[in-house]
Amino acid sequence: MSPIVGVLALQGASREHTDALGKLGTTVRQVRLPKDLDGLDAIVIPGGESTTISMLLESSKTFEPLSDLLADGLPVLGTCAGMILLAKEVLDGRSDQRSFARIDIAVRRNAFGRQIASFETDLHIKDLEDPFPGVFIRAPGAQILDPSVEILASVKRETGEETPVFCRQENVMVTSFHPELTDDLRLHQMFLEHL
Ligand code: GLN
Repeated sequence: MSPIVGVLALQGASREHTDALGKLGTTVRQVRLPKDLDGLDAIVIPGGESTTISMLLESSKTFEPLSDLLADGLPVLGTCAGMILLAKEVLDGRSDQRSFARIDIAVRRNAFGRQIASFETDLHIKDLEDPFPGVFIRAPGAQILDPSVEILASVKRETGEETPVFCRQENVMVTSFHPELTDDLRLHQMFLEHL
């Protein structure tokens, strides 16, 4: 039986994740309320605006039940704002912004600066043979807080510094970029292979 994968659909690019997972033959359920979490095998937290998603998670009373499931090990893919919502530390978040603290990274919002707020670049992803089209939109950057976090891709900055943009720790995968905004399904496939 194909797994049931939830896509958090409070705000942001939920439609595109739903389509990508659907193309891979997955049963997808959009999650807006606590009852939508019943029986999920995994969940995707999309890009959008992390402060807004955090607020809507609270007002829909979905934050606590989802937090409990994630703490119990529900596999999760977080893209962009989703990465921020899963990070242990948000370096420049709004004071009322909450996170599930499921991966030992610190994130800086809009880490790539204002001038180059949005850009595309070919990424070399561990375990993928060909480059992956990385679409970055006001993207966060990660700092690793624990050696058990695996860096699957990073972006080289003008300063020569490498910023991790795709990380995995156990069954938590996070990207700074938006795989759902490309036709390339390999990243969603990687996520499903780990379920
Ligand atoms: N900068 C946004 C935030 O802080 C994330 C941008 C995105 O998801 N494309 O939530």
